[in-house]
Amino acid sequence: MYPRDMIIPTGVRLALDRLDRAGYEAYIVGGCVRDSLLGKTPTDWDIATSATPERIKEVFNGYHRIYTGFKHGTITVILDEMPIEITTYRVDGKYSDGRRPDEVHYTGDIVEDLARRDFTINACAMTDSRFIDPFGGMDDIRHGIIRCVGNPKERFKEDSLRILRGIRFASMLGFVVEEETKKAILDCKELISNVSMERITMEFCKILLGDAVHDTLLEFQAVLAFIIPEIREMIEFDQRNKYHIYDVYRHTLKSVESIDKDVVLRTTMFFHDIAKPSCFSLDDNCVGHFYGHAKASAKMTEGILERMRFPKREIRDIIELIKYHDRPIGLTAKSVRKLLSKIGEEQFRRLLKVKRADTMAKNPIFWEVKLKDIEVVEDIVDSLIEKGACITRNQLAINGNDLIELGIPQGRLLGYILDTLLNMVLNEELENKKDDLLKWAKAIWTKSKLQ
Ligand code: ATP
Ligand code: MG
Repeated sequence: MYPRDMIIPTGVRLALDRLDRAGYEAYIVGGCVRDSLLGKTPTDWDIATSATPERIKEVFNGYHRIYTGFKHGTITVILDEMPIEITTYRVDGKYSDGRRPDEVHYTGDIVEDLARRDFTINACAMTDSRFIDPFGGMDDIRHGIIRCVGNPKERFKEDSLRILRGIRFASMLGFVVEEETKKAILDCKELISNVSMERITMEFCKILLGDAVHDTLLEFQAVLAFIIPEIREMIEFDQRNKYHIYDVYRHTLKSVESIDKDVVLRTTMFFHDIAKPSCFSLDDNCVGHFYGHAKASAKMTEGILERMRFPKREIRDIIELIKYHDRPIGLTAKSVRKLLSKIGEEQFRRLLKVKRADTMAKNPIFWEVKLKDIEVVEDIVDSLIEKGACITRNQLAINGNDLIELGIPQGRLLGYILDTLLNMVLNEELENKKDDLLKWAKAIWTKSKLQ
């Protein structure tokens, strides 16, 4: 891990070079230095410079410049088709809303600029030939440590979004949070109420997508329970059931880490059992049951995700998956086809992933049987799709025009006849053949006239 091994894209090099030739200092800073040192491709490139915003504007005269962050000293310049954020060295003024500085001042000193940054791993600056690391960021990156720059409590009081960013980096990078920073995160969790719901949700989703999501959400369960109080009941809730070896919260976290890094899937797993504690009952043998928990969890999750301003489409998909997560799917083409028709192929395939992850978070004694069943269902789906089996109304061998030609008037009856025919095909009472379908369409129509 030597900075010189880093691959700096052409556009970024160009920007550094132009600023340098104009007589200003310029460094790449923050997340892009961190990610590059870790061998990851940075998502975005930031440059800090001693040039004031007006000078940056001049230096990049003739290039495509975007001024959305101009007030805070940032100009985005497009170089080599790449947007690069160039920001004047900055010192933040007082913070009075727990989120944003009241004012910012420009400075000529890179070290002052680095001092305002949140974590040491985000407070390194470099060029081809220089590496500026006043807070030991390089060592912390090497040892996998998240540590605030300066006094953690003060830094979180200034801007409480940093609490969530810290947890996010722990989850994404698998880093350990240094003791004092960890204590401050837990002590200051209530300050998160200064952060907008949109930002909380953005960070929550990124936390869920981390490699180390299980350990991080266990360590910071108190913060999560502050953001989403409904999860409190899950923590340490003993399931008293042979299928489970973990309490509800740990089972949840195991299931989250067992599924693909996708927002819909990971959010589904995080909430899939949220209503379990409220559905708990003990039978005469002191065995725990959770009747109706899937439906109840879907309902609770809908409320939570609406409050968290998740997109409507994602809410719909997530609650559908939760509703079906523990419903058995028969191992026959007929039952697979019926569910496929109801929820569609994309959701069906997601549901299989959900079932797999749920299984992997349960007692390993039952893995083999359950996973085998899921595989059988998957094979049936594959073969139905490959054969182009009839699953939707559009795939019927007849359409509305065929019925109109028979004399059936356009309108609700026509839709009803197509739905009835589709159901008969799904139930294997009828083959998807034009002649058969037309015969039955006539019969249903005649019957409706007699009623
Ligand atoms: P990523 O881009 O992967 O989300 P990042 O660390 O690059 O992570 P950005 O939002 O791109 O995050 O910010 C760039 C840099 O600005 C950070 O690395 C950090 O130095 C600084 N920074 C961002 N947000 C804050 C904050 N809330 N408080 C202090 N410094 C911050
Ligand atoms: Mg970044």
